[in-house]
Amino acid sequence: MGSWYEVKPSLERGGLGVFASRTIPPGTVIMRDPAVMKLKLKQVQFTDEEVRDSFNLLSTADKIRVLKLHEGHRPFETRLMRIYKANSFGAQGFTMLHVDMSRVNHSCVPNADRQDDTENDEKTDAAIMVAIRTIAKGEEILICYNSNFEGMIVTQRNNILDSYYGFCCSCSACTLPAKERVLSDTRRRLINVLSSKCSGYEPPRLSQLDYLNRQNAENPSTTMGLPQFPLRVALSIWEKTAFSVLLAELMQAERLTNVITANLYREAAYHLMQQMSKNPYILVMPSARYVTAWMEKAIKIVSNITGARSNQSKAIKEQWNNWQQGEQLDLYRNLKLDYLQALARGKGAGEVFAVHIGETVPNAEGLIGLKIEALSEQTCKTRLREGKGKVSCPRRLA
Ligand SMILES: [Zn+2]
Repeated sequence: MGSWYEVKPSLERGGLGVFASRTIPPGTVIMRDPAVMKLKLKQVQFTDEEVRDSFNLLSTADKIRVLKLHEGHRPFETRLMRIYKANSFGAQGFTMLHVDMSRVNHSCVPNADRQDDTENDEKTDAAIMVAIRTIAKGEEILICYNSNFEGMIVTQRNNILDSYYGFCCSCSACTLPAKERVLSDTRRRLINVLSSKCSGYEPPRLSQLDYLNRQNAENPSTTMGLPQFPLRVALSIWEKTAFSVLLAELMQAERLTNVITANLYREAAYHLMQQMSKNPYILVMPSARYVTAWMEKAIKIVSNITGARSNQSKAIKEQWNNWQQGEQLDLYRNLKLDYLQALARGKGAGEVFAVHIGETVPNAEGLIGLKIEALSEQTCKTRLREGKGKVSCPRRLA
Protein backbone atom coordinates (compact mmCIF):
# COMPACT_ATOMS: atom_id res chain seq x y z
CA MET A 1 0.00 0.00 0.00
CA GLY A 2 1.38 3.40 -0.99
CA SER A 3 1.68 6.51 1.11
CA TRP A 4 -1.41 8.22 2.55
CA TYR A 5 -0.13 11.67 1.69
CA GLU A 6 1.77 13.80 -0.77
CA VAL A 7 3.68 17.04 -0.15
CA LYS A 8 2.79 19.81 -2.60
CA PRO A 9 2.16 23.58 -2.67
CA SER A 10 -0.74 24.71 -0.48
CA LEU A 11 -2.61 27.38 -2.45
CA GLU A 12 -4.73 28.32 0.56
CA ARG A 13 -1.88 28.67 3.05
CA GLY A 14 1.15 29.38 0.87
CA GLY A 15 4.34 27.32 0.91
CA LEU A 16 4.15 23.55 0.98
CA GLY A 17 1.47 21.46 2.61
CA VAL A 18 0.65 17.79 3.15
CA PHE A 19 -2.40 16.44 1.31
CA ALA A 20 -4.34 13.18 1.46
CA SER A 21 -3.45 11.09 -1.59
CA ARG A 22 -6.60 8.97 -0.95
CA THR A 23 -9.47 8.90 1.53
CA ILE A 24 -8.03 8.47 5.01
CA PRO A 25 -10.28 6.80 7.63
CA PRO A 26 -10.13 8.18 11.21
CA GLY A 27 -7.59 6.45 13.42
CA THR A 28 -5.16 5.90 10.51
CA VAL A 29 -1.49 6.50 11.29
CA ILE A 30 -0.81 8.75 8.30
CA MET A 31 2.86 9.31 8.99
CA ARG A 32 5.55 7.89 11.26
CA ASP A 33 8.49 10.26 11.23
CA PRO A 34 11.82 9.72 13.05
CA ALA A 35 13.38 12.76 14.75
CA VAL A 36 16.41 14.22 12.99
CA MET A 37 17.37 16.55 15.85
CA LYS A 38 16.75 16.37 19.59
CA LEU A 39 17.66 18.84 22.35
CA LYS A 40 16.97 18.68 26.07
CA LEU A 41 14.15 21.06 27.02
CA LYS A 42 15.37 23.94 29.17
CA GLN A 43 13.73 26.85 30.93
CA VAL A 44 16.10 29.26 29.24
CA GLN A 45 16.78 29.51 25.54
CA PHE A 46 18.96 27.05 23.64
CA THR A 47 22.23 28.49 22.46
CA ASP A 48 23.13 28.74 18.79
CA GLU A 49 26.05 26.42 19.56
CA GLU A 50 23.81 23.67 20.92
CA VAL A 51 21.61 23.75 17.84
CA ARG A 52 24.61 23.88 15.52
CA ASP A 53 26.39 20.97 17.27
CA SER A 54 23.26 18.85 16.94
CA PHE A 55 22.89 19.84 13.28
CA ASN A 56 26.53 18.97 12.54
CA LEU A 57 25.89 15.35 13.54
CA LEU A 58 23.42 14.92 10.65
CA SER A 59 24.11 13.26 7.33
CA THR A 60 24.45 15.59 4.35
CA ALA A 61 21.04 14.48 3.06
CA ASP A 62 19.34 15.29 6.40
CA LYS A 63 21.14 18.64 6.58
CA ILE A 64 19.66 19.55 3.20
CA ARG A 65 16.16 18.44 4.33
CA VAL A 66 16.39 20.54 7.50
CA LEU A 67 17.66 23.64 5.70
CA LYS A 68 14.70 23.52 3.32
CA LEU A 69 12.21 23.99 6.19
CA HIS A 70 10.27 27.19 6.85
CA GLU A 71 12.31 29.47 9.14
CA GLY A 72 9.54 31.62 10.59
CA HIS A 73 10.09 35.24 11.57
CA ARG A 74 11.67 35.08 14.96
CA PRO A 75 14.48 37.46 15.84
CA PHE A 76 17.32 34.94 16.10
CA GLU A 77 20.67 35.60 14.57
CA THR A 78 21.19 32.28 12.86
CA ARG A 79 18.89 30.75 10.27
CA LEU A 80 19.46 27.33 11.85
CA MET A 81 18.06 28.55 15.19
CA ARG A 82 15.07 30.13 13.43
CA ILE A 83 14.35 26.87 11.60
CA TYR A 84 14.72 24.79 14.76
CA LYS A 85 12.45 27.03 16.84
CA ALA A 86 9.80 27.26 14.13
CA ASN A 87 9.60 23.51 13.54
CA SER A 88 10.44 21.64 16.72
CA PHE A 89 7.90 20.18 19.13
CA GLY A 90 8.31 19.51 22.84
CA ALA A 91 8.02 15.89 23.95
CA GLN A 92 8.89 14.26 27.29
CA GLY A 93 11.53 16.73 28.43
CA PHE A 94 13.02 17.22 24.98
CA THR A 95 12.36 19.22 21.86
CA MET A 96 12.61 17.33 18.62
CA LEU A 97 12.61 18.16 14.96
CA HIS A 98 10.74 15.91 12.54
CA VAL A 99 11.29 16.97 8.94
CA ASP A 100 8.22 15.45 7.24
CA MET A 101 5.91 16.42 10.13
CA SER A 102 7.17 20.00 9.78
CA ARG A 103 5.54 20.17 6.37
CA VAL A 104 2.09 19.79 7.95
CA ASN A 105 0.26 23.13 8.23
CA HIS A 106 -1.77 24.40 11.17
CA SER A 107 -5.51 24.61 11.85
CA CYS A 108 -7.38 25.46 15.06
CA VAL A 109 -9.89 22.76 14.00
CA PRO A 110 -7.41 20.11 12.85
CA ASN A 111 -8.25 16.87 11.06
CA ALA A 112 -5.14 15.10 12.36
CA ASP A 113 -3.23 14.90 15.61
CA ARG A 114 0.51 14.80 16.18
CA GLN A 115 1.36 12.24 18.87
CA ASP A 116 4.40 10.64 20.41
CA ASP A 117 4.88 7.20 18.92
CA THR A 118 3.95 4.69 21.61
CA GLU A 119 6.03 2.08 19.81
CA ASN A 120 8.81 4.64 19.96
CA ASP A 121 12.28 3.32 20.61
CA GLU A 122 14.98 5.71 21.72
CA LYS A 123 16.93 5.25 18.52
CA THR A 124 14.34 6.88 16.26
CA ASP A 125 12.30 9.14 18.60
CA ALA A 126 9.55 8.96 16.03
CA ALA A 127 6.38 11.02 16.12
CA ILE A 128 3.17 9.86 14.50
CA MET A 129 0.35 11.76 12.85
CA VAL A 130 -3.09 10.21 13.26
CA ALA A 131 -6.29 11.14 11.37
CA ILE A 132 -8.95 12.25 13.86
CA ARG A 133 -11.75 12.32 11.30
CA THR A 134 -12.26 11.11 7.76
CA ILE A 135 -9.97 13.08 5.46
CA ALA A 136 -11.13 13.21 1.84
CA LYS A 137 -8.75 12.55 -1.04
CA GLY A 138 -7.05 15.85 -1.99
CA GLU A 139 -7.92 17.54 1.34
CA GLU A 140 -5.05 19.24 3.17
CA ILE A 141 -3.96 17.41 6.33
CA LEU A 142 -3.76 19.86 9.26
CA ILE A 143 -2.63 19.61 12.87
CA CYS A 144 -2.91 22.12 15.73
CA TYR A 145 0.49 23.62 16.63
CA ASN A 146 -0.37 24.44 20.25
CA SER A 147 -2.16 22.18 22.71
CA ASN A 148 -3.50 25.21 24.65
CA PHE A 149 -5.37 26.60 21.63
CA GLU A 150 -8.58 24.75 22.53
CA GLY A 151 -9.15 27.24 25.34
CA MET A 152 -8.00 30.40 23.52
CA ILE A 153 -10.00 32.96 21.56
CA VAL A 154 -9.21 33.96 17.94
CA THR A 155 -6.99 36.97 18.80
CA GLN A 156 -4.97 35.04 21.39
CA ARG A 157 -4.37 32.13 19.01
CA ASN A 158 -3.32 34.47 16.23
CA ASN A 159 -1.02 36.51 18.47
CA ILE A 160 0.86 33.30 19.20
CA LEU A 161 0.88 32.13 15.57
CA ASP A 162 2.07 35.53 14.32
CA SER A 163 4.73 35.93 17.05
CA TYR A 164 6.16 32.44 16.77
CA TYR A 165 5.47 31.31 13.21
CA GLY A 166 4.87 34.54 11.31
CA PHE A 167 1.39 33.84 9.94
CA CYS A 168 -2.26 34.43 10.77
CA CYS A 169 -4.58 31.46 10.70
CA SER A 170 -7.15 31.08 7.93
CA CYS A 171 -8.91 28.04 9.41
CA SER A 172 -12.70 27.88 9.61
CA ALA A 173 -12.68 28.79 13.35
CA CYS A 174 -10.55 31.91 12.76
CA THR A 175 -12.56 33.22 9.80
CA LEU A 176 -16.09 32.95 11.20
CA PRO A 177 -18.61 35.76 10.59
CA ALA A 178 -18.81 38.21 13.54
CA LYS A 179 -21.77 36.63 15.35
CA GLU A 180 -20.51 33.07 15.15
CA ARG A 181 -17.08 34.25 16.18
CA VAL A 182 -18.43 35.72 19.43
CA LEU A 183 -20.13 32.40 20.10
CA SER A 184 -16.97 30.43 19.29
CA ASP A 185 -14.82 32.71 21.49
CA THR A 186 -17.29 32.28 24.37
CA ARG A 187 -17.13 28.51 24.02
CA ARG A 188 -13.31 28.60 23.94
CA ARG A 189 -13.26 30.75 27.11
CA LEU A 190 -15.50 28.23 28.83
CA ILE A 191 -13.29 25.39 27.59
CA ASN A 192 -10.29 27.16 29.17
CA VAL A 193 -12.05 27.41 32.55
CA LEU A 194 -13.64 23.96 32.55
CA SER A 195 -10.65 22.01 31.25
CA SER A 196 -8.42 23.56 33.92
CA LYS A 197 -10.92 22.82 36.68
CA CYS A 198 -11.52 19.25 35.49
CA SER A 199 -7.71 18.71 35.61
CA GLY A 200 -7.54 20.13 39.16
CA TYR A 201 -6.10 23.57 38.33
CA GLU A 202 -7.23 27.16 38.58
CA PRO A 203 -7.84 28.46 35.03
CA PRO A 204 -4.76 30.30 33.70
CA ARG A 205 -5.02 34.02 33.05
CA LEU A 206 -4.55 34.47 29.33
CA SER A 207 -4.47 38.29 29.35
CA GLN A 208 -0.67 38.28 28.87
CA LEU A 209 -1.29 36.90 25.38
CA ASP A 210 -2.96 40.17 24.40
CA TYR A 211 0.46 41.85 24.67
CA LEU A 212 2.45 39.11 22.95
CA ASN A 213 4.28 40.21 19.81
CA ARG A 214 7.32 39.24 17.77
CA GLN A 215 9.59 41.58 19.77
CA ASN A 216 8.85 40.17 23.22
CA ALA A 217 8.05 36.60 22.13
CA GLU A 218 11.47 35.25 23.12
CA ASN A 219 11.49 36.86 26.55
CA PRO A 220 11.92 33.91 28.98
CA SER A 221 8.98 35.13 31.11
CA THR A 222 6.78 34.80 28.01
CA THR A 223 8.13 31.49 26.80
CA MET A 224 8.01 29.66 30.12
CA GLY A 225 4.38 28.86 29.48
CA LEU A 226 1.22 29.39 31.46
CA PRO A 227 1.66 29.01 35.22
CA GLN A 228 -0.68 26.46 36.77
CA PHE A 229 -1.94 26.56 40.35
CA PRO A 230 -3.90 23.77 42.04
CA LEU A 231 -7.59 24.45 42.68
CA ARG A 232 -8.16 26.30 45.94
CA VAL A 233 -11.36 24.32 46.54
CA ALA A 234 -11.65 20.80 45.17
CA LEU A 235 -14.63 20.08 42.92
CA SER A 236 -17.64 18.33 44.39
CA ILE A 237 -18.79 15.14 42.70
CA TRP A 238 -21.73 17.10 41.23
CA GLU A 239 -19.36 19.66 39.73
CA LYS A 240 -17.09 16.90 38.38
CA THR A 241 -20.07 15.33 36.61
CA ALA A 242 -21.53 18.57 35.26
CA PHE A 243 -18.21 20.16 34.24
CA SER A 244 -16.99 17.03 32.42
CA VAL A 245 -20.11 16.69 30.33
CA LEU A 246 -20.37 20.42 29.63
CA LEU A 247 -16.73 20.50 28.53
CA ALA A 248 -17.29 17.51 26.25
CA GLU A 249 -20.32 19.20 24.67
CA LEU A 250 -18.39 22.46 24.14
CA MET A 251 -15.50 20.60 22.49
CA GLN A 252 -17.93 18.89 20.17
CA ALA A 253 -19.59 22.22 19.33
CA GLU A 254 -16.15 23.64 18.49
CA ARG A 255 -15.42 20.57 16.34
CA LEU A 256 -12.52 19.64 18.62
CA THR A 257 -13.78 16.12 19.26
CA ASN A 258 -10.94 13.80 20.18
CA VAL A 259 -10.19 10.92 22.55
CA ILE A 260 -10.12 13.42 25.45
CA THR A 261 -13.76 14.30 24.65
CA ALA A 262 -14.68 10.62 24.92
CA ASN A 263 -12.86 10.39 28.25
CA LEU A 264 -14.83 13.38 29.56
CA TYR A 265 -18.13 11.65 28.77
CA ARG A 266 -16.81 8.52 30.47
CA GLU A 267 -15.72 10.55 33.53
CA ALA A 268 -19.16 12.17 33.73
CA ALA A 269 -20.85 8.74 33.52
CA TYR A 270 -18.53 7.34 36.19
CA HIS A 271 -19.16 10.22 38.63
CA LEU A 272 -22.91 10.00 38.13
CA MET A 273 -22.80 6.22 38.77
CA GLN A 274 -20.93 6.91 42.01
CA GLN A 275 -23.72 9.24 43.07
CA MET A 276 -26.34 6.63 42.13
CA SER A 277 -24.56 3.99 44.18
CA LYS A 278 -25.04 6.05 47.35
CA ASN A 279 -28.70 5.00 47.19
CA PRO A 280 -28.43 1.53 45.70
CA TYR A 281 -32.11 0.65 46.24
CA ILE A 282 -33.57 3.61 44.45
CA LEU A 283 -32.96 3.64 40.72
CA VAL A 284 -33.46 7.15 39.34
CA MET A 285 -34.38 6.77 35.67
CA PRO A 286 -32.92 10.05 34.29
CA SER A 287 -29.56 9.21 35.95
CA ALA A 288 -29.48 5.76 34.35
CA ARG A 289 -30.49 7.31 31.02
CA TYR A 290 -27.68 9.90 31.22
CA VAL A 291 -25.04 7.33 32.19
CA THR A 292 -26.11 5.20 29.23
CA ALA A 293 -26.23 8.11 26.78
CA TRP A 294 -22.80 9.45 27.83
CA MET A 295 -21.16 6.03 27.58
CA GLU A 296 -22.72 5.49 24.16
CA LYS A 297 -21.30 8.86 23.05
CA ALA A 298 -17.86 7.97 24.45
CA ILE A 299 -17.85 4.61 22.64
CA LYS A 300 -18.96 6.22 19.38
CA ILE A 301 -16.21 8.86 19.54
CA VAL A 302 -13.49 6.32 20.34
CA SER A 303 -14.72 4.03 17.53
CA ASN A 304 -14.83 6.93 15.07
CA ILE A 305 -11.35 8.10 15.92
CA THR A 306 -9.45 4.88 16.53
CA GLY A 307 -11.57 2.43 14.52
CA ALA A 308 -14.28 0.08 15.82
CA ARG A 309 -11.84 -2.80 16.27
CA SER A 310 -9.00 -0.85 17.90
CA ASN A 311 -7.72 -1.78 21.36
CA GLN A 312 -9.08 1.49 22.75
CA SER A 313 -12.55 0.73 21.35
CA LYS A 314 -12.46 -2.78 22.79
CA ALA A 315 -11.32 -1.44 26.18
CA ILE A 316 -14.08 1.14 26.54
CA LYS A 317 -16.79 -1.30 25.35
CA GLU A 318 -15.56 -3.87 27.85
CA GLN A 319 -15.59 -1.27 30.62
CA TRP A 320 -19.16 -0.31 29.76
CA ASN A 321 -20.17 -4.01 29.76
CA ASN A 322 -18.67 -4.39 33.23
CA TRP A 323 -20.41 -1.29 34.53
CA GLN A 324 -23.73 -2.61 33.24
CA GLN A 325 -23.30 -5.73 35.38
CA GLY A 326 -23.73 -3.46 38.43
CA GLU A 327 -27.08 -3.97 40.11
CA GLN A 328 -28.69 -0.64 39.25
CA LEU A 329 -27.73 -0.53 35.58
CA ASP A 330 -28.47 -4.23 35.19
CA LEU A 331 -31.95 -3.61 36.56
CA TYR A 332 -32.36 -0.54 34.32
CA ARG A 333 -31.55 -2.65 31.24
CA ASN A 334 -33.91 -5.45 32.22
CA LEU A 335 -36.80 -3.46 33.60
CA LYS A 336 -40.05 -3.85 31.78
CA LEU A 337 -40.66 -0.13 31.44
CA ASP A 338 -44.13 -0.61 29.89
CA TYR A 339 -45.17 -2.62 32.90
CA LEU A 340 -43.88 0.04 35.28
CA GLN A 341 -45.55 2.76 33.30
CA ALA A 342 -48.89 0.93 33.51
CA LEU A 343 -48.32 0.43 37.23
CA ALA A 344 -47.66 4.14 37.68
CA ARG A 345 -50.70 5.12 35.64
CA GLY A 346 -52.81 2.79 37.74
CA LYS A 347 -51.76 4.78 40.78
CA GLY A 348 -52.59 8.06 39.04
CA ALA A 349 -48.92 8.99 38.71
CA GLY A 350 -47.33 10.34 35.51
CA GLU A 351 -43.95 9.23 34.17
CA VAL A 352 -42.01 6.74 36.23
CA PHE A 353 -39.21 8.86 37.66
CA ALA A 354 -37.62 6.18 39.80
CA VAL A 355 -38.13 2.69 41.17
CA HIS A 356 -37.64 1.54 44.74
CA ILE A 357 -36.32 -1.99 45.02
CA GLY A 358 -37.31 -3.83 48.14
CA GLU A 359 -38.40 -7.17 49.55
CA THR A 360 -41.93 -8.44 49.83
CA VAL A 361 -43.15 -9.72 53.17
CA PRO A 362 -42.55 -13.49 53.48
CA ASN A 363 -45.39 -15.61 52.08
CA ALA A 364 -46.97 -18.64 53.80
CA GLU A 365 -43.90 -20.76 52.97
CA GLY A 366 -41.60 -18.03 54.31
CA LEU A 367 -40.29 -17.09 50.84
CA ILE A 368 -39.32 -13.53 50.13
CA GLY A 369 -39.79 -11.94 46.69
CA LEU A 370 -38.54 -8.83 45.00
CA LYS A 371 -40.78 -5.81 45.26
CA ILE A 372 -40.40 -3.11 42.68
CA GLU A 373 -42.30 0.06 43.32
CA ALA A 374 -42.66 2.88 40.77
CA LEU A 375 -42.04 6.35 42.21
CA SER A 376 -42.98 9.82 41.06
CA GLU A 377 -40.30 12.50 41.21
CA GLN A 378 -41.84 13.95 44.36
CA THR A 379 -42.01 10.63 46.22
CA CYS A 380 -38.49 9.75 45.07
CA LYS A 381 -37.09 13.00 46.47
CA THR A 382 -38.88 12.47 49.78
CA ARG A 383 -37.49 8.94 50.11
CA LEU A 384 -33.98 10.04 49.19
CA ARG A 385 -34.19 12.79 51.80
CA GLU A 386 -35.29 10.25 54.36
CA GLY A 387 -32.37 7.99 53.40
CA LYS A 388 -34.67 5.16 52.29
CA GLY A 389 -32.58 4.36 49.23
CA LYS A 390 -29.80 3.06 51.46
CA VAL A 391 -31.76 0.54 53.57
CA SER A 392 -34.50 -2.14 53.56
CA CYS A 393 -33.40 -4.03 50.56
CA PRO A 394 -32.68 -7.48 49.26
CA ARG A 395 -29.14 -8.75 49.51
CA ARG A 396 -29.16 -9.90 45.91
CA LEU A 397 -31.19 -9.00 42.91
CA ALA A 398 -30.84 -12.26 41.06
ZN1 LIG B 1 -7.34 29.06 13.25
